[in-house]
Amino acid sequence: MTESVVNMSVSDQLFARAKQVIPGGVNSPVRAFRSVGGAPFFVKAAHGARLVTADDRELIDAELIVRFVPSIQKVRMCNSGTEATMSAIRLARGFTKRDKIIKFSGCYHGHSDSLLIKAGSGALTHGNPDSAGVPASFAKETVVLSFNDRAALDAAFAANPDQIAGVILEPFPANIGLILPDPGYLAYLRDICTRNGTVLIFDEVMTGFRLSKAGVQGLLAEQGTPVIPDLTTLGKIIGGGLPVGAFGGHADIMDYLAPEGPVYQAGTLSGNPLAMAAGITALRMLEELNPYPRLEKLGQQVRDVLIAAARNKGIPLQVPQVGSMFALFFTPTPVRDYATALQADAKIFARIFRSCLDRGVYLAPSAYETAFISTAHDGPDIDQACEIMSKAIAEL
Ligand code: PMP
Repeated sequence: MTESVVNMSVSDQLFARAKQVIPGGVNSPVRAFRSVGGAPFFVKAAHGARLVTADDRELIDAELIVRFVPSIQKVRMCNSGTEATMSAIRLARGFTKRDKIIKFSGCYHGHSDSLLIKAGSGALTHGNPDSAGVPASFAKETVVLSFNDRAALDAAFAANPDQIAGVILEPFPANIGLILPDPGYLAYLRDICTRNGTVLIFDEVMTGFRLSKAGVQGLLAEQGTPVIPDLTTLGKIIGGGLPVGAFGGHADIMDYLAPEGPVYQAGTLSGNPLAMAAGITALRMLEELNPYPRLEKLGQQVRDVLIAAARNKGIPLQVPQVGSMFALFFTPTPVRDYATALQADAKIFARIFRSCLDRGVYLAPSAYETAFISTAHDGPDIDQACEIMSKAIAEL
């Protein structure tokens, strides 16, 4: 199309607005028209082969995310949590011009090569791939540490001076049951990253929009102990059931992405209108409903009931809980990391799981999954689930 048939002024305004919150104003570099010149246009509708360009009622979807998560100045939409974390890692490497990254044992960040690696035996060993097909030469760029261990962090930075591009973590690890950080641990991590010029990445694919409008970082800010990551990755809830991921953060870092900067990242379906419509609707509903105080109450109810049932039965049980998220660890030891999580008795969990399922409550089918209470659960649902879970514990 040429300027003679397209009224570009509205698109120009929208593109200027998009550039405020999306690197280069696009979710895939070629869309910026750099190789053909001129400015891209926004599409309001399509009929057969014909496009209708935007009018001023269009909303830039990314603005909602920037409003929800204050640490995100610019955001790039993609199609899954895996894409978001993979791209954030590449961006951290491109921005710092370093290769190594730190992750924590038990944290899952999707299935890209750099991240599909858990602990070696010692805190400082280089990672071994978790899956066939990940070259050992990739895995050795990933240093795997134990969560909540400050000395291990100090040692890893000391052993790899000026080499750590980024640290990625689930700020509340939730892929090995639920683990909560020791007080001050996340602030310590923030500080050591700042001192070493390392990009701190919060993977909030699971916690984003679940624990607060701004995930763990929002909760920490509400509690008066803010920790601000450089980059944040998002997924799951952000798509309202459709495949959506996103990563965003400080504009100086995000502007390293193509077409603004040298770090390539792209996607045919990134920012597609169907998925964006579902995501926008989900986020607007969360804003309107503000389900978080209600979910916190329900979460506390479940935790208290489970702990009381285990105490009555005389079996050791830890129930870490925050908001709608909780986990059951049948162990006397408070769970602080991967090693203590693995000490929990998975056989007792399996018996509880089967007993609950027989009575109509479907827990996640693994001792190492975090349980979620959803906005669809009402009070009576949770009362009934509590009764059934208590019975299952009493009958052990
Ligand atoms: N990060 C975290 C914290 C996750 O829990 C997951 C998925 N369970 C991912 C990343 C990967 O997301 P996806 O499955 O959408 O690729």
